[in-house]
Amino acid sequence: MSEIKVMNYIDGEFCEASGGQRIEDIGPVDGKIIATIPRSGADDVLRAVQSAKSAQKNWSALTLEERADWLHKIADKMQENIEEIARLESLDTGKPWDVALNVDASRSVNNFRFFADFSKNIDDLKFEMDDASNYVLRKPLGLVGLISPWNLPLYLLSWKIAPALLMGNAIIAKPSELTPLTAWYLCTILDKVGLPAGLVNILHGYGPEVGQAIVENQSIQGISFTGGTQTGKIVAATAAPMFKKLSLELGGKNATIVTDDIDIEFVAKEVARASFLNSGQICLCGSRILVQSSIYENFKEALIKAVNDFKIGPVISKEHKEKVLSYIELAQQEGGKILTGGDISESEGFYINPTLVEGLAIDSRCATEEIFGPVATLHSFDEDADAIDFANITDYGLAGSVWCRDESRATEIAEQIESGMVWINTWLHRDLRVPFGGVKASGVGREGGMWSVGFFSEAINICVKH
Ligand code: NAD
Repeated sequence: MSEIKVMNYIDGEFCEASGGQRIEDIGPVDGKIIATIPRSGADDVLRAVQSAKSAQKNWSALTLEERADWLHKIADKMQENIEEIARLESLDTGKPWDVALNVDASRSVNNFRFFADFSKNIDDLKFEMDDASNYVLRKPLGLVGLISPWNLPLYLLSWKIAPALLMGNAIIAKPSELTPLTAWYLCTILDKVGLPAGLVNILHGYGPEVGQAIVENQSIQGISFTGGTQTGKIVAATAAPMFKKLSLELGGKNATIVTDDIDIEFVAKEVARASFLNSGQICLCGSRILVQSSIYENFKEALIKAVNDFKIGPVISKEHKEKVLSYIELAQQEGGKILTGGDISESEGFYINPTLVEGLAIDSRCATEEIFGPVATLHSFDEDADAIDFANITDYGLAGSVWCRDESRATEIAEQIESGMVWINTWLHRDLRVPFGGVKASGVGREGGMWSVGFFSEAINICVKH
């Protein structure tokens, strides 16, 4: 198969980076080159910013309904090509076809559809006083920078593009250099539907080069970043002195709490999925499984079986595979025992078998640092208060799940977990209207429904004295 030649999309044109250099995109299934992408830099950002400025003026003059119609048009065209989106996502990330189709591609289409429909819920806000009326204008920020990771490439990028467009902004986006294909393909769709040139500019390349140039650009008023906590710190430090609006969706080390009153077989399968879907490379995956001591042994047995039955794809890259394997090594040095997995399943490509570790201290490095791969640690607790303490011991605070038949007990536990989201007796059950985001080192700000609308606009008060 010949390599795909990914291009930048600036001012409605497919183009090379100004420096002319290219980067290889390696497929995780066999480690071979599948594509090359432009290595963009600050000059490309400047070009994109120029085109975005003029496009944004006309775009923000449209009504919310007119912009929502455009989102529907994009969603329609994506839906027509949903299998191609899934094929490219699967090629780039190595994820199984059904995950690429039913999770990544479907949700990417739905992100545009959801925000188009959600526009009907954006009410005019009015506050009456005895002698005056206030109303709130939602003005676009203007130009926004969107930076996304490799684990759910188009799913996470479209989750930002759709509300940014809806609220009247123009976009300079940078997908992960490890997974550029679907962002580039989206540009071909935007081109086909005739979205005005310059509204969505997608630039490829390395984070410290083109990503950094986006964050540094004075004309870009807001940055929505999803990625690792360390990168988030750099983004925040760069953007803060310019008073840019910032949304940071960062790493996690989520707890899965299993109490003694559950159906062991059923919950073991659900917990396996929550730990290992997408090879554990979802920021919401539960990588610390806390099981009540009275059912620990029985649950462990059922979980090992469920994990062994769970089919996963490779991890994203050779470097990431080495990082994950180094954590498996560290787990053993820290006194952990591998219950299943711990090894690689294919000689080529970046496969690691789903790995369960027990016997680690709850504050060990493997139990508190984000591994972001198919590795979960298993711990036991006696009282609910212990489970809550264990859950809260990490620096992260993104998500968590509680598996407990008694709903009031489950709610009591859930409310004490320091994280942005907690699921009870389910996982990754998403209503796109709810707030999504983390606390502590997992980020700042919220996305989803009104929170995305709020981020991608400035609320301006006009007070009229009667
Ligand atoms: P990463 O931080 O390495 O990269 C994310 C993006 O930032 C990439 O596009 C990268 O090129 C870019 N980047 C790198 N340096 C930059 C810089 N100096 N300035 C601007 N951009 C820069 O993260 P990753 O490895 O791609 O993704 C995995 C991480 O993302 C994990 O930590 C995971 O938990 C997190 N994540 C969080 C969420 C969430 O919603 N909270 C969702 C998915 C992934």
